[in-house]
Amino acid sequence: RPLLEIRDLMKRYGSFQALSGVSFDLQEGEIISVLGPSGCGKSTLLQLVAGLTQPDGGEIVLSGETIASPQKMVLPEKRGVNMVFQDYALWPHMTVYENIAYGLRQKRTARNIIQERVRELVQMLHLEGLEKRLPPQLSGGQQQRVAIARALATRPRLMLLDEPLSNLDMRLRLEMRTEMAYLFRQLGMSVFHVTHDPDEAFAMADRLLILRNGRIDQIGTPQECYSKP
Ligand code: ADP
Ligand code: ADP
Repeated sequence: RPLLEIRDLMKRYGSFQALSGVSFDLQEGEIISVLGPSGCGKSTLLQLVAGLTQPDGGEIVLSGETIASPQKMVLPEKRGVNMVFQDYALWPHMTVYENIAYGLRQKRTARNIIQERVRELVQMLHLEGLEKRLPPQLSGGQQQRVAIARALATRPRLMLLDEPLSNLDMRLRLEMRTEMAYLFRQLGMSVFHVTHDPDEAFAMADRLLILRNGRIDQIGTPQECYSKP
């Protein structure tokens, strides 16, 4: 069965219907990019999967378990889902090493396993030599690599990316989107990615989900979505 099942999801803010009956599946190892104009409900959808807000209708099923519905809310930290934000949100007073290790420490992982896992991620994300630096002493691209490493450290079942490259300059965006797509595919990560940048979605996604006014306008491979009238 699919890793993530979204069933008839609804979300209102007051009298405003932000999502009106969104349904789709995300398969294990699949990368889906959500595209659509500002205000169409992209962040709302991501926040619902992350557990930052509760749906008014429908349900979210992860690995066969209902994690969100109007009757049920599994806490964000119990979902096995990690998120990378637009603005990094690294701990500014913690070193690169401590930032990456943070989630593992919270879970009381053994020190030698933490060391090994961090070393692996530092290598994978080309952060060698930066372990003792603080986030303000890093470039924007390096900070975003640390945020990705930190999100990968606890080996989530699903990775959520919220406009992950929007704060980078154009050259870095180009470089990072290729690198990110390669990394997530290599790891076989399941990824749910929100962006307003069609080029970024094309570079990353197996399938695109195009939202319009809180409904699915199209879902399919990039070729399928762009060959339709
Ligand atoms: P997107 O990410 O596609 O720009 P959002 O999911 O952030 O869209 O927002 C969808 C709609 O819901 C927008 O019209 C937005 O103004 C509204 N909205 C989002 N969050 C709230 C909120 N907390 N309270 C009221 N309205 C909200
Ligand atoms: P984006 O365009 O990237 O979706 P926004 O600036 O629309 O971001 O929203 C930023 C944050 O503010 C989101 O967490 C969203 O839920 C919230 N928000 C958006 N619109 C409203 C609104 N009308 N009232 C209250 N909160 C809102």
